Amino acid sequence: MTSSATDDNPRSVKRVAVVGAGVSGLAAAYKLKSHGLDVTVFEAEGRAGGRLRSVSRDGLIWDEGANTMTESEIEVKGLIDALGLQEKQQFPISQHKRYIVKNGEPLLVPTNPAALLKSKLLSAQSKIQVIFEPFMWKRRDPSSLCDENSEESVGSFFERHFGKEVVDYLIDPFVGGSSAAAPESLSMRHSFPELWNLEKRFGSIIAGALKSKLFAGRDKTGENKMAQRKNKPKRGSFSFQGGMQTLTDTLCKELGKDDLKLNAKVLTLAYGPDGSSSLQNWSITCASDQRTQDVDAVIMTAPLSSVKDLKITKRGTPFPLNFLPEITYVPISVMITTFKKENIKRPLEGFGVLVPSKEQQNGLKTLGTLFSSMMFPDRAPSDLYLYTTFIGGAQNRELAQASTDELKKIVTSDLRKLLGAEGEPTFVNHFCWSKGFPLYGRNYGSVLEAIDRIEKDLPGFFFADLFLVILVGNHKGGLSVGKAIASGCKAADLVISYLNSASDNTVP
Ligand SMILES: Cc1cc2nc3c(=O)[nH]c(=O)nc-3n(C[C@H](O)[C@H](O)[C@H](O)COP(=O)(O)OP(=O)(O)OC[C@H]3O[C@@H](n4cnc5c(N)ncnc54)[C@H](O)[C@@H]3O)c2cc1C
Repeated sequence: MTSSATDDNPRSVKRVAVVGAGVSGLAAAYKLKSHGLDVTVFEAEGRAGGRLRSVSRDGLIWDEGANTMTESEIEVKGLIDALGLQEKQQFPISQHKRYIVKNGEPLLVPTNPAALLKSKLLSAQSKIQVIFEPFMWKRRDPSSLCDENSEESVGSFFERHFGKEVVDYLIDPFVGGSSAAAPESLSMRHSFPELWNLEKRFGSIIAGALKSKLFAGRDKTGENKMAQRKNKPKRGSFSFQGGMQTLTDTLCKELGKDDLKLNAKVLTLAYGPDGSSSLQNWSITCASDQRTQDVDAVIMTAPLSSVKDLKITKRGTPFPLNFLPEITYVPISVMITTFKKENIKRPLEGFGVLVPSKEQQNGLKTLGTLFSSMMFPDRAPSDLYLYTTFIGGAQNRELAQASTDELKKIVTSDLRKLLGAEGEPTFVNHFCWSKGFPLYGRNYGSVLEAIDRIEKDLPGFFFADLFLVILVGNHKGGLSVGKAIASGCKAADLVISYLNSASDNTVP
């Protein structure tokens, strides 16, 4: 596709540019193409997939980015069905068995109240605090609750309700495992909006959760119940044969070569007539090709740090992005190791083990390990265990950037303590994400305002960014493949209605 600046005839098919070929950009492009629009995806790297990155080598299969996803967002099931990927979905064996380390020992995460009471994960005092939370918070004076605009941290919110130990041994590993952040650095209102609102309405989180579930049950008519059951996502996490990248590879195939430009880092975006054209549209230049390309709308899926580097103009005047707040990114290293099965003296069945940051005092330095070949036996030959270990995150930034040798020692030492791994791993692979996860700090509100401002001031420019989805996100919070897909699909819907309403021409 080349510049249409000299084209006198109005185009009947509208063109859309998608910046970024991660899963959100590809999902957006797929939806737009299915609606008959002309789409080009611009990707800065030489490969598509972004944070979905699977490798298959020497009889091993592993993921260096996301390892599993869920169908919590309705758009995920729709996409998988449309792509015909159900047959390739892989559900982990014993996925509900997950472990958290306490005093150096992996303990099964309790999945129901009875198991919680029996578990060694919490002391008797903390268990009592959990049990009595509905009574303690029943008649709380609303003025003692946080006001609506308060930016209370996730850690402080849960500590008020359940005490410090719950934060250290349940919230910290959960938050670290899903977004590599620390509970103190995240805003409760933005990360867990549903729980935040439960406190406002009911005082107690536990009582509030039970009551709202009850109300939701009562509200459902028979028809609604049927529809909900039909759309109910399959429970639990899953991957695909060949790893998570199977999803983005399939999306790329559907798009076709001409619609995807690799090594095409977008450098400038210009909105409006530039003198040579009377169209109010967007002109794009990218690193691989200095010719401008004209489109009617843009979906931005690149991280905000990359958006800040773009040169944007509006009707010939620079549109500075200096009002975009700085976003901090957290580095994370992913270490793949394999061990001979006979050298793992205490193997654990299940999904994986999370290491709370407090356990660093017991000499553990990793964030957590997935039991990858235990979950998906086809990921390694039958005499080997393949593990995926994460190191770094907000609490241990320097370590994430350490050398492969140093990280190999750390992983081997932690797996020795947790699983009784003896000797050296038979295989090691190291991948470092220098900007693994954006840290959604307490200036989150100002980020949303900035995004809103850009979208209002620049017609036809839409963000498919997790910031937008996380606001309406569910109790799970965090960053995820599912949310990225949902954000891509929502941005595509916005573009479709924008083009429908803005255009005098018929949009197919
Ligand atoms: C180590 C790790 C483990 C994870 N584990 C899980 C997990 O188990 N489950 C889960 O649900 N989620 C997980 N996640 C999160 C999940 O992978 C991401 O939320 C999701 O993949 C983000 O997709 P995206 O398309 O929004 O962004 P990205 O995948 O980051 O894609 C953005 C793309 O934009 C491109 N780009 C940037 N600037 C430009 C430019 N100027 N021009 C053109 N292109 C540009 C980038 O190269 C990139 O390809 C994990 C993330 C990491 C890092």
